Amino acid sequence: MQGGLALPAIIEAAFGHASVADSPGKPKRFEEVVGFELTEVIATHRLAVLPLGSLEFHGPHNPLGSDSIIVSGIAARVAARTRGLLFPAITFTHCPAHTANFRGTISIRPEVMTMYFADILRNALHLGFRRVFILNGHDGNIGPGRGAVAQVADEVKDAALLFASWWEFLPSEMIKSLGIFQQANGGHGHGGPLETSAVAAFRPDLIHLDQARDLPPPPNLSGGAPYFLQKSSATDWPGYSGHVSEASAEKGRKLVQISEDAIVKLIENWLSHAEAPGSW
Ligand SMILES: [Zn+2]
Repeated sequence: MQGGLALPAIIEAAFGHASVADSPGKPKRFEEVVGFELTEVIATHRLAVLPLGSLEFHGPHNPLGSDSIIVSGIAARVAARTRGLLFPAITFTHCPAHTANFRGTISIRPEVMTMYFADILRNALHLGFRRVFILNGHDGNIGPGRGAVAQVADEVKDAALLFASWWEFLPSEMIKSLGIFQQANGGHGHGGPLETSAVAAFRPDLIHLDQARDLPPPPNLSGGAPYFLQKSSATDWPGYSGHVSEASAEKGRKLVQISEDAIVKLIENWLSHAEAPGSW
């Protein structure tokens, strides 16, 4: 899932000229809309942008709100570039069993999360939005998040909801070609160098690499094809993975820029192809 961007274009976007560092301006934030402005704000924004994060242990070196910090940062820039109205990040979400029992994780049961998220989506649609973009930052949100999207899409006739996870725009092969991380899977993994770098891109003050030692990256069981393995617990696992000493804010800024550019491209393609059906 690369949002249709060819690899050279992605690399140029990450390492190229001044446009990368340009600030896209500030998005309009939902919680700052004053009551009397509401009708006009809805009418002048093309979509609602909903960041979906978590509160979850990410190793001794990362903040509990790592996922929420990353999606809030990317979503703010995406909303500004796509004329989206930025909603506050949803932080209390479902965490899978292998992280749910770590101290600091707050987990909502998946069936409750599905109903709760569906209510938020219903309210966004009730406000008048007919296009909603959900920017996900957390693996445990994929099942409940897509379940909620499926529910509400079936209740209205003229809406479309787009769900995407920021790290999926950074496939392992592409990261390896950039030479950012030595780790074989491109730095992916819970609390690993890629995710830690992305947090550092926005909040370097919250990263404490001296608190964590390097660990093996997650084993690749499939040779590259995606799979979903859920264990009921994670004994003898320290709650993160990978060569975290490879993480840096500079790498993180490049990575979130690649993701941001590909997400903007995806949204622009989506909005310009109103005739396209759902997944096909
Ligand atoms: Zn995470």
